[in-house]
Amino acid sequence: MSNTTSTSPAVPGAAGPSGPRADIGVIGGSGFYSFLEDVTEVSVETPYGPPSDSLFLGEVAGRQVAFLPRHGRDHHLPPHRINYRANLWALRSVGVRQVLGPCAVGGLRPEYGPGTLLVPDQFVDRTKSRAQSYFDGEPRPDGAVPNVVHVSPADPYCPTGRAVALTTARRHDWDAVDGGTLVVVEGPRFSTRAESRWHAAQGWSVVGMTGHPEAMLARELELCYTSLTLVTDLDAGTETGEGVSHQDVLEVFAANVDRLRTVLFDVVADLPATEDRACLCTKALGGWDPGFALP
Ligand SMILES: [Zn+2]
Repeated sequence: MSNTTSTSPAVPGAAGPSGPRADIGVIGGSGFYSFLEDVTEVSVETPYGPPSDSLFLGEVAGRQVAFLPRHGRDHHLPPHRINYRANLWALRSVGVRQVLGPCAVGGLRPEYGPGTLLVPDQFVDRTKSRAQSYFDGEPRPDGAVPNVVHVSPADPYCPTGRAVALTTARRHDWDAVDGGTLVVVEGPRFSTRAESRWHAAQGWSVVGMTGHPEAMLARELELCYTSLTLVTDLDAGTETGEGVSHQDVLEVFAANVDRLRTVLFDVVADLPATEDRACLCTKALGGWDPGFALP
């Protein structure tokens, strides 16, 4: 990682009331925090094993933000190997209650070309092998046994976060698409043309590899979660060329990351204070006892 950030040495196990705190989390690449000054690196242990990397805590617009590189700082984790449960748990354990999840996606409609910003309001899960819930009936290494709890994903994203994201993007002359369905595939491979055409025929909007179970795990921890998807390519069934290449994705993401970071930082500024949240994300467990203490 080449940048000018002054990063303090990791503070092992610093999560807790006395350690560095943040109230907003951003799960994305190092491009979102590498230009911040005075970033504090905090390593967090969780009952689910290690998160993708340390948390990088810094100040944005007067708010304390914890950044987590979803694939690790050297991008060594493919989507299906990411420890999503540890990631969301780690964020909550330093105080985070609102999470922004920017990610790269393929467009499933010709009008959603590279550079489109789409703020989905639904997802479809086509993943196969991921730990999808904190309530999986498995005793944890610390002896806690989760209760059987069913959390509703009917509207999986935070309405407040979505509204702030859309308003902010448009203020920056980025005509973000309001709503749409993110279909999440297992990866690491891209879709065949047949799969891609099928996804499009269902009316789904964009396709990615990390949106699930990230949003649902946030919901299970009563966190607000907002997905911001950046289209980096038209998916295989949508165009007639060679199909998606990893290089295409990286290039388009790099070309838009400054713009996305600018929008993201203004979203951070406009999110409500933790105690002022009026959305139902804060009551996702409906008063049920999860069988363990939330961090
Ligand atoms: Zn919310």
